[in-house]
Amino acid sequence: MAELRQRGRPRAPADPEALVASARAGDARALARLVSLVEDRAPELRAVMKAIAPLTGNARVLGLTGSPGVGKSTVTGALVAAYRAAGIRVGVLAVDPTSPFTGGALLGDRVRMQAHATDDGVFIRSMASRGHLGGLSLATPQAVRVLDAAGFGLVLIETVGVGQAELEIASLADTTIVIIAPGMGDSVQAAKAGILEIADIFVVNKSDRPAAQEAVRDLRTMLAMGHWGDGQWKPPIVSTVASAGTGIDDLTAKIEAHWSWLDSTSGLAARRRARAREEVAAIAVAVLRERLGGPPSAARLDDLAGQVAAGQIDPYSAADELVSG
Ligand code: GDP
Repeated sequence: MAELRQRGRPRAPADPEALVASARAGDARALARLVSLVEDRAPELRAVMKAIAPLTGNARVLGLTGSPGVGKSTVTGALVAAYRAAGIRVGVLAVDPTSPFTGGALLGDRVRMQAHATDDGVFIRSMASRGHLGGLSLATPQAVRVLDAAGFGLVLIETVGVGQAELEIASLADTTIVIIAPGMGDSVQAAKAGILEIADIFVVNKSDRPAAQEAVRDLRTMLAMGHWGDGQWKPPIVSTVASAGTGIDDLTAKIEAHWSWLDSTSGLAARRRARAREEVAAIAVAVLRERLGGPPSAARLDDLAGQVAAGQIDPYSAADELVSG
């Protein structure tokens, strides 16, 4: 997709400083371009990241995850409306680890987001991992940085709850919201997938369904088995009917409460440090992989492989030589 876009529409190299300045001034096209540089891992990205580093650290990052169909997009839409009403600029990154598609069309086309389509205070982008290992951990935090630097007070990362990817995404957020819907066996799955550990807030959406009370009860039982020390955050359970906007006030109140708790403890600093650690590690691995994938390394690897196969050196020494060379 990125390749297609590049081929179809040749672009002049971006001037990172100018793009950042325009995005901060509210230019939606400059912002979209910056996020594309992130997704395409363009050569200008280093300069962009350097330019925006001092401008970051202000946005709150909210992660929303849950199985397909539980109502993530509907909840996201309702939260966007609530925070826009409070005058906060909101960025939405919809990350689908199962999809090779990227570029913003997927979520942007969705009916419930059309209410925000003409609002300059809302930026929506669908992102995909494009099959790269570590693709999400690489691109998503950098897209968050861009939105943060552009003056978005809130960034929502919405991701489909499948396996490792959602745990990965959860580690990017200041506050992680796990959404379940009644009657989908979700609460049981949640326990299995380690979701209980990552949730700061549980949402039981579709509370207009008969089995909603049961889902809340199951969650409560599971939470009761956890041990919460004094001063620790115990995840609250919020019931919503997102399609009707019911319970969203309660949800934003719980989000604010979690932020207050993070601010009053060392929680926020610790989370952001952990996020930065993963970000740096992901970049380092990508840089190394790129370096080792180049022609000089390939030739060197061939040579070393010959020596290892012939028993002249051991594979660890060969790997050390390849990495340091
Ligand atoms: P996602 O796949 O998790 O993003 O789920 P969507 O937000 O696309 O919602 C899936 C379907 O559930 C859509 O048809 C929504 O209109 C519907 N839906 C969302 N919230 C509710 C709710 O609270 N109650 C009911 N009955 N339906 C809902």
